[in-house]
Amino acid sequence: MGETKTYSGSCHCGKIRFEVTADIAKASACNCSICTRTGWLMASVPLEAFRQLSGKESQVDYQFGSKTMHHLFCSTCGIRAFGSYATDGQEKVVVNLRCLDGLDVDALELQKFDGKSY
Ligand SMILES: [Zn+2]
Repeated sequence: MGETKTYSGSCHCGKIRFEVTADIAKASACNCSICTRTGWLMASVPLEAFRQLSGKESQVDYQFGSKTMHHLFCSTCGIRAFGSYATDGQEKVVVNLRCLDGLDVDALELQKFDGKSY
């Protein structure tokens, strides 16, 4: 086990700001059609571990395919800092680890996630 920490994160222009409290030891690289284009490294956390601080009004919700996932991106800078989905009645937030301050994503164990199949 690693260490549970609170990380702050943002989109590029800073309109969208959030915090996530989690033990982030692994990064998932997803092979779905959107993540391959954007180069996401992600981690999924329960909704309770996530707090959006600002920028809801600047967010665009993009959905495709099975539309299970809300791909939220900033209308100003285009960065998709996180997204949300529900599974088995539980709301989850998928965070773009590259948007977190002070997290060395290169130090994390890299896992492959087969999002293409969902
Ligand atoms: Zn932005």
